[in-house]
Amino acid sequence: MYPSKAIAGAAHGFLEDNSQPLRADEFSGGDGTVAQKLRSLGFEVRSTTRNPDWSRDELILALDFYLKNPQSPPGNGSNEVGTLSQQLNMLNAVLGQTGGESFRNANGVYMKVMNFRRFDPSFSSVGKVGLSHGGAQDEAVWNEFASDPVRLEIVASAIRSALVGGVAPVAIDELDYVEEAEEGRLLTALHRRRERSQKLVRACKDKAMNETGELRCEACNMSFLERYGEFGNGFMEVHHIRPLHTLGEGHKTLLTDLALVCSNCHRMIHRRKQWLTVAELARIINRSGVSTSL
Ligand SMILES: [Zn+2]
Ligand SMILES: [Zn+2]
Repeated sequence: MYPSKAIAGAAHGFLEDNSQPLRADEFSGGDGTVAQKLRSLGFEVRSTTRNPDWSRDELILALDFYLKNPQSPPGNGSNEVGTLSQQLNMLNAVLGQTGGESFRNANGVYMKVMNFRRFDPSFSSVGKVGLSHGGAQDEAVWNEFASDPVRLEIVASAIRSALVGGVAPVAIDELDYVEEAEEGRLLTALHRRRERSQKLVRACKDKAMNETGELRCEACNMSFLERYGEFGNGFMEVHHIRPLHTLGEGHKTLLTDLALVCSNCHRMIHRRKQWLTVAELARIINRSGVSTSL
């Protein structure tokens, strides 16, 4: 088997006197051009586009599906698997993931769901384990959610309701420095959208100014005005404190859902998959004995 571009590139050099074979970046490939031409010349062209690995968001929906009926999940021709396949394709459109023709079709989705049996003690203990293929991410999602199906159901519902609500696509750099939470990329992006909303940030700062006359980090007590003088006046970040699984359902953000935090503390909160609460971070700072006066 040869890459279609290599064949077409070499053919170009072969056909025209004194010309060099074209490099792959000198013409566009894919089904639209090269593959089509080669097919017309009688070559058999096969798609080798590898479907991307399953994202955490997808695994959450798949595990939720599996745990609803681990003994005998609906088959790969069932409406239920068809619906899950559709949801995953919607999700991937939002997350910007694409694949080949078989991308998350009912067959592949069914296989992935059955793969969770590998981790399921009620199957592995009797020697009936699932298919062996699967990544480390599968096991991580199993470990985080399988023992708490109620939480899993809530998180999966939040993802589904965000999709149904027509959530805007998630940009590649949208999470910025924030570590994707256990609840997945989509809900993490919704968190970021809320805490970056200029309107909410301004209202949150105004409230603090009205109540206390200053802006201080709620975790470390730092004030940008004290640290940087007039240059830092009015600066502070905002962290959204509501659990991620509440973000899918169109809950309106209240000012009480927001905490003022300095840039360092905000990064620390989001540094690991399990985000810290503001109170947890404050305890860490106090334990470390670092001065909080500035
Ligand atoms: Zn701080
Ligand atoms: Zn945040």
